[in-house]
Amino acid sequence: MIQHPRLDTDLNAACQWLGGAAVMGKGAAREMTDPATGKMYGTFPDADAGQLDRAVKHARGALKVWADCDPDKRARILHRVSELITENADHLGAVEAVNVGKPLPQALRDVGRAAEYFRFYAGACDKLQGDTIPSGPDQTVFTVNEPVGVTVHILPWNYPVSTLARGVAPALAAGATVVAKPSELTPFTAVMLARIAAQAGLPDGVFNVVTGGGDIGTQLAGHSEIDHVTFTGSTATGRKVMQAASAPVAGVTLELGGKSPIIVLDDADLDAAAEGVLRGIFFNAGQVCAAGSRLVCTPGIHEALISKVAAKARAMTLGHPLDSPDIGPLVNSGQIARVEGFVDRAKAAGHRLALGGSRSVLEAYPNGYFYPPTIFANPPPQSEIARDEVFGPVLVSQLCDDADHALALANDSDFGLVAGIYTCDGNTALRLARQVQAGQVFVNGFLTANDSVPFGGVKRSGIGREKGLAGLAAYLSPKAIVLNHGK
Ligand code: NAD
Repeated sequence: MIQHPRLDTDLNAACQWLGGAAVMGKGAAREMTDPATGKMYGTFPDADAGQLDRAVKHARGALKVWADCDPDKRARILHRVSELITENADHLGAVEAVNVGKPLPQALRDVGRAAEYFRFYAGACDKLQGDTIPSGPDQTVFTVNEPVGVTVHILPWNYPVSTLARGVAPALAAGATVVAKPSELTPFTAVMLARIAAQAGLPDGVFNVVTGGGDIGTQLAGHSEIDHVTFTGSTATGRKVMQAASAPVAGVTLELGGKSPIIVLDDADLDAAAEGVLRGIFFNAGQVCAAGSRLVCTPGIHEALISKVAAKARAMTLGHPLDSPDIGPLVNSGQIARVEGFVDRAKAAGHRLALGGSRSVLEAYPNGYFYPPTIFANPPPQSEIARDEVFGPVLVSQLCDDADHALALANDSDFGLVAGIYTCDGNTALRLARQVQAGQVFVNGFLTANDSVPFGGVKRSGIGREKGLAGLAAYLSPKAIVLNHGK
């Protein structure tokens, strides 16, 4: 039994979800630590190779039943999953908050997003129409959208339940089956969601969960009986997943890292921009792929903007996730060491620190992994802190001469996930929005899209799109049927 001191739940209730049943993992036991206290509260066993193989075989075995399921029935089941997620939101949210270190209101919001993904894709089940292709009087050509097959979902730890739902819901809507592997740091809500899906009437074997680390991920991505891998995580791991998936010649959707720019021009509403920058980088302690970690602005507004952001950031509270602070702890000791490494190297290189810069020690939680909002003012564009993804609450500012220079700085990055633009000049906004290299661009706001808006990266930020109707494409395999009926 694993019981967190502040939750009345046995988190060990199921370690793996295989073929519609909870099964104890047979792999190595993994220590679970509360990031707010640094204290271990139990161990959670990984799946072993045999269980992973069984998970894939269950998904393969259930494929025909699910693919042939009447679309209306499929829609009703996904709707029911959405309702049950909402009914269990408090429970799911508290577990997620404790596991990730995420403030409870944010965890509850993520659970709401998971319910919303299932609701949205439930509505798509009976609308997956094919095309009729003009081919002259002697042929009738049309396409039928078949499910892609067995899909693997390998997930990170920063938004466990919502990221799981954003891939699993469209896969299920398309009639594909699923083997999901949550991050080894945050396994709980994936297993809980699979149990909820079973309660909603999803047939056994359609949605399986195995837990474990990179070795389990590699074996899954390279398994001979899978058809598609949706991977969300770092660019370095994404490359390995792509390589592994080449063995079964599986398709890949890669949702990878970012170093996203927010451009603020002279004529912008500075208060609105400061609010967007603040939320863009310090929400979820900066552990957000789409974090706006680079502020690109002109010298005339630089100091004023940094001061506004810093003043708001200083007012943010840090604390235990269940006490609903503004910022919780980072996810584990490795993540805070990573952030400290970046910041310490930037300080050693002489870059100007405008805010934060060392770990916070809270009186109530002296051993927690807390890191305060941190800002470096104008480090060189080629410096590590300006180029690499920190994945923590660390903002850098970069100075531009004008809109064109801002665009050049914004695009001078290996990544291309999202971008923000603040200006009152509509033409400039539109020109920059069209030319900035990113999968989503926000004008006079940041990360303001709902989850029906296609999301994904260009350059090293990934391949493919999730969310919205675009998120269905990876899970559909259009078959063309050609009828020859000439005399
Ligand atoms: P990570 O790459 O370390 O791990 C992600 C997942 O891959 C985990 O489940 C892990 O166990 C698994 N894994 C590790 N090695 C593997 C291997 N060799 N083969 C297969 N699977 C393997 O990433 P993380 O630290 O969990 O998450 C942080 C990263 O995720 C950041 O770079 C962030 O930007 C990115 N991210 C991207 C998005 C997006 O939508 N673009 C969303 C969230 C996070």
